[in-house]
Amino acid sequence: KSNVPRNLPPPVALTIAGSDSGGGAGIQADLKTFHAHGVHGLSAIAAITSQNTRGVTAVHPVPLTHIRSQLEAVFDDFPVAAVKTGMLGNAGIVRLVARELRKRKPAWVVIDPVMISTSGSRLLDEDAIEALIKNLIPLADVLTPNLPEAEALLGHPLRTAKQFAQAGHALRALGARAVLLKGGHGRGNTLIDRYFDERGLMEIHHARLPREGHGTGCTLASAIAAELAKGAAPRQAVRRAVAYVQRALKNGYRPGAGTAFALRH
Ligand code: PLP
Repeated sequence: KSNVPRNLPPPVALTIAGSDSGGGAGIQADLKTFHAHGVHGLSAIAAITSQNTRGVTAVHPVPLTHIRSQLEAVFDDFPVAAVKTGMLGNAGIVRLVARELRKRKPAWVVIDPVMISTSGSRLLDEDAIEALIKNLIPLADVLTPNLPEAEALLGHPLRTAKQFAQAGHALRALGARAVLLKGGHGRGNTLIDRYFDERGLMEIHHARLPREGHGTGCTLASAIAAELAKGAAPRQAVRRAVAYVQRALKNGYRPGAGTAFALRH
């Protein structure tokens, strides 16, 4: 499963994200993904959600002082090779996380611009999108929006082939070094993920599975961070991470009464 030698400490990755009490998405998905990749996972919890396979019933942002102290605790002690950010909740948290990342300068930063859950709950205040664009996205080595998130970041819908072709350029113009525009919210039997970097466009085509996965976005971004922490180049990290999520969803299961599938890591 992992090619990290047993006798050496594994690479270290940090997730800064929200807790999913249902164990399918968020911090819980991130740590499972890090573990499955043979990476030591650290976490700074930015928000606590009360949620299960049927949806989110409450969201509690963690106070800034305690997010800061979690970040200080982990950065002061561990050689953090890669950071993944997920659900951040509000503008103050976005700015705090950006400030810490600018100060600590980890080698790799993966930003998953989480905004709304598949079940329809807001996971980022609407007025925090500006802070995300201004403060956090310029720090991203890989930015991983789904289609609605890309539309929110760009401020216009993505419908035509031409708009898709330009989206990568426009998102990179916000300061992200590379952008993975996820195709999960598109239509058709083939799902197309589009990765844009300084070399241009790399498309990854795969079959759309007839099930609603919970935590696929969190898992994908964490798998990219884990691969980067282990030394993969970004394009390779993205290809492997997409394959990892595909496999985990194909082997997925319904852990609760709702229709959402959990990933098998
Ligand atoms: N809960 C938390 C804490 C998350 O970070 C996310 C996603 O990023 C979700 C829920 C939503 O997961 P999904 O849309 O895959 O159901």
